[in-house]
Amino acid sequence: MATTHRKFFIGGQWVDPASSGRIDVVSATTEEVIGSCPEGTTADIDRAVAAAQKAFKESAWATYTPAERGAALNRFADAIEKRGEQLAQTVSMQNGMPINVASQLESGFVVGVLRYYAALAAVQEIEEARPSPLGFTSHVRKEAIGVVGAIVPWNFPVALSIMKIGPALAAGCTIVLKPSPETVLDSFIIAEAAEEAGLPPGVLNWVPGGRDVGAYLVSHPGIDKVAFTGSTGAGRIIAQECGRLLRPVTLELGGKSAAIILEDADLDKVLQGLPSTSLLNNGQACFSCTRILAPNNRYQEVVDAIASTVSSLVVGDPLDRATQIGPMASAVHRNRVEGYIAKGKSEARLVAGGGRAMQERGWFVQPTVFADVDNSATIAREEIFGPVLSIIRYGNEDEALRIASESEYGLGGTIWSEDRVRAVNLARRVESGTIGINGYLPDVNAPFGGIKASGLGRELGPESIAAYQQYKSIYMLG
Ligand code: NAD
Repeated sequence: MATTHRKFFIGGQWVDPASSGRIDVVSATTEEVIGSCPEGTTADIDRAVAAAQKAFKESAWATYTPAERGAALNRFADAIEKRGEQLAQTVSMQNGMPINVASQLESGFVVGVLRYYAALAAVQEIEEARPSPLGFTSHVRKEAIGVVGAIVPWNFPVALSIMKIGPALAAGCTIVLKPSPETVLDSFIIAEAAEEAGLPPGVLNWVPGGRDVGAYLVSHPGIDKVAFTGSTGAGRIIAQECGRLLRPVTLELGGKSAAIILEDADLDKVLQGLPSTSLLNNGQACFSCTRILAPNNRYQEVVDAIASTVSSLVVGDPLDRATQIGPMASAVHRNRVEGYIAKGKSEARLVAGGGRAMQERGWFVQPTVFADVDNSATIAREEIFGPVLSIIRYGNEDEALRIASESEYGLGGTIWSEDRVRAVNLARRVESGTIGINGYLPDVNAPFGGIKASGLGRELGPESIAAYQQYKSIYMLG
């Protein structure tokens, strides 16, 4: 039965929307409407920003001690944990994420992120006394930046929201969050958890809506910082606007990461890692290693092994625990991915997939592999955001490094080798914000993010709290 929401969570209350517009959420698997909610407008954003401003300046939140902030984040983590399975199922139904992935990343991982920031918030030193070389003392304070406008995409709607909420709350900020229209239903579950956790009214507010509502939030005079995850195209527009306003902004954008398979790699490890490093969430993950760099002397072996592994992946209903590849998140997105597959057929040699996966309903494409891909080909340069891999040949390590780094993007990457020292040395030289050795797993305790067209700033790690704070120096001259 479809879930129908009629109100927004703003200022700690469930309030009526300003307009009668609605957002229908359609299942990527059944193509049926599985829920709906009111469509946010600029008037709703105005109300949410006002509530967040009031909470920042006037509510109990403004005077919480670090220990109280930590406790509030832990209560929020408890409330999310209780709803873990509901969140995983909801995300899986909305965007087609295999349920095993959703249980791990949209449920378990997010609880860990909140508990991590709860612990950091509780022990934070807000003010530090420093001796000046001129003989007096300066007090250096870390102050919360203010009201955050947060915008997230549809691919990991819960994790990407919590990766902003955790550090922003640890810093003492308040937030207005705009989820993507394709995946709004999970945001109501997170709002219910916030309500149960008893966060002061207005600390967290949600207004679902499209890009116009997002653009209005970015430029709203009441917003002090923008935290955005989404496409590079939208990121550039948002960065321009934030530049005009001199407004701090964090941007987590697209990627076209490379997996470098060295000659001594254990191919079994590569194949085992493939679903999570290159095809996670049906290929709809920003850090996916969709360019696979194979050495000349093992090229055919790598192509045959990857083509055979990818062809054997279980494609089907994402709610089935056996499923490894579900559908694309929307019909429009499937068409886009199919356009790239058609382009790939004219640019390279198709060795696996290449068509629609035969299912009665749903926006499925076959996991697809191209071999003999040149790094200058469209399928090697542009982010496809689907289960489409390009295998590129290289001669020596320097050439592999050059190909890996020759990309507009610089978000993730992997190196596969049995020689850890060699692999780490190479990892240090790849142009990328993050990179994994013999696997890839974002770590809550390490900053995550990209360079070049993959973004600005970092999420996760203690570094992420700093992105929601600003410094104030008090010179104690007398
Ligand atoms: P998108 O940019 O189309 O939309 C993302 C969000 O931004 C949505 O909520 C959308 O409504 C909003 N939006 C779009 N244009 C806007 C604008 N001009 N002003 C304000 N808001 C706007 O991206 P998408 O298709 O939903 O998501 C896929 C993209 O997200 C991929 O490029 C992927 O690589 C990227 N992504 C990056 C990371 C990361 O951490 N680097 C993580 C996940 C996804």
